[in-house]
Amino acid sequence: MSTIAADFKKLTAHAKEYGFIYQSSEIYDGLAAAYDYGPNGVLLKNNLKEYWWRSMVQLHDNIVGIDAAIFMHPKTWKASGHVDAFNDPLIDNKDSKKRYRADVLIEDFMDKIEGKINKEIAKAKKRFGDDFDEAQFRETNPNVLRYAKQHNEIGTRLATAMTNGDMAELKQIIEDLGIADPDTGSKNWTDVRQFNLMFSTQLGNIAGEEGKLYLRPETAQGIFVNFVNVQKTTRQKLPFGIAQIGKAFRNEIVARQFIFRMREFEQMEMQFFIQPGTQMEWYKYWKETRLKWHKALGHPAEKLRFHDHENLAHYADAAVDIQFEFPFGFKELEGIHSRTDFDLGAHQELSGKKMQYFDPQTKESYVPYVLETSIGADRLFLATMSHALREEQVPGQDDPNKRRDVLALHPAIAPIKAAIMPLKRNDERLVNMAKDIFNDLRYRFDVQYDDTGAIGKLYRRQDAVGTPFCITVDFDSLADGEAPGTVTVRDRDTLEQARVKIEDLAGFIGPKVDMATLLAEAGK
Ligand code: ATP
Repeated sequence: MSTIAADFKKLTAHAKEYGFIYQSSEIYDGLAAAYDYGPNGVLLKNNLKEYWWRSMVQLHDNIVGIDAAIFMHPKTWKASGHVDAFNDPLIDNKDSKKRYRADVLIEDFMDKIEGKINKEIAKAKKRFGDDFDEAQFRETNPNVLRYAKQHNEIGTRLATAMTNGDMAELKQIIEDLGIADPDTGSKNWTDVRQFNLMFSTQLGNIAGEEGKLYLRPETAQGIFVNFVNVQKTTRQKLPFGIAQIGKAFRNEIVARQFIFRMREFEQMEMQFFIQPGTQMEWYKYWKETRLKWHKALGHPAEKLRFHDHENLAHYADAAVDIQFEFPFGFKELEGIHSRTDFDLGAHQELSGKKMQYFDPQTKESYVPYVLETSIGADRLFLATMSHALREEQVPGQDDPNKRRDVLALHPAIAPIKAAIMPLKRNDERLVNMAKDIFNDLRYRFDVQYDDTGAIGKLYRRQDAVGTPFCITVDFDSLADGEAPGTVTVRDRDTLEQARVKIEDLAGFIGPKVDMATLLAEAGK
């Protein structure tokens, strides 16, 4: 097995074993692309959502939040373009009967070419050592040049075919490149056809097309249709934003890769309403702001990159993805889109209601432009876990065979902030003291009392779920002990143990696990 597959398998197994994520309806062999968050998972996900919400709504005077319904009037999706254009190109393999996204098959082929380029570079780096100049090598090495040319040519053909909705050309590209079914090697393909990704359902009291409802495929439209309501009731002036966290549903053709691509998922979207003509300025601002936000969370710079969209969606005049290096490569984590006045304009036209803003300075009314930031809470969860999960040599141990699994989460998002444990579970005095501490701290933090095993085992379990502090009550803590009224606090990352007075515990832990620390880092 490749190390990538091994890492990913380890991550999914860890997520299940430690109560982060379970397959939906597992007892019935599961439902593809649907997942349930377990006790630790829901805490981590809620913390990630809180980090997003507070950095948007609490820390911006000009961003407010809403929580719109999942069901919307069906005309919403006509105006937004989703009924006509929210399609993915689908292709079936006639032999294996497997279904693929045609554009993804081509993109995977392009990734392989990029892999070859990276291999050439790695080889040359090894050969030339410190003298290696990567930029020059890329410009002069004949193999790299050949691969890069091929990569560009395919990219241009793909972008053009996607923009034009040219399904025949997509099939042609697959045939020209000799792309085979990744599972079986068969090249016996059907034609490529468009597949709409919206799930539909039916209202009980209205039969036929009239009663057809969609499960929202994005949260953004709930914001657009409420633009005038929110602006009037909050008296916000442009520029201002509306933020929302909520479920979205897409009938994804290929839903592999765990919680990366689900059919039911959660989005955190913010639409920023601006004066037409200022979109590039705000595009730049939100690109920088969002990247900083990710870095503060602990995502290292080398695992994040911008990726400009080659084929723009029907609503956008500029779009970039923040990609994260997941265990299966760099993929979209967040999208930043300049959506122009497309959505508000379309709703204005179809509803006949004005979706405008009266600018008190220019004394003009106009449909604002929109700059959007859109991130999946589940993808953020996966990125966070995949970076944080490490198998490492136990800090401070000389023996390289002494290893541990640790989830090195930022303390502010860790599911459990501190675990309180008695050194011996059969000593009533230790147990009572530990429980008193737990009952006191639980009012302030998500804490856990645990006496279900030997202390070493309990520590390892807390490391595996990312608990930043373990508080241990030992014999010294007791009234007749060496240091009465004190306990040890073990740091997850350094394993250093500090002796802390019980009454100082909240003050010791508090600032480190406080979301304010994280928010301040993101704002720097
Ligand atoms: P992709 O190209 O990966 O399908 P997209 O470009 O369609 O994604 P957007 O419509 O821009 O995605 O959605 C915004 C964000 O919502 C994405 O950056 C991603 O984090 C999240 N997202 C989209 N689709 C899914 C899904 N099926 N499962 C989980 N998260 C998703």
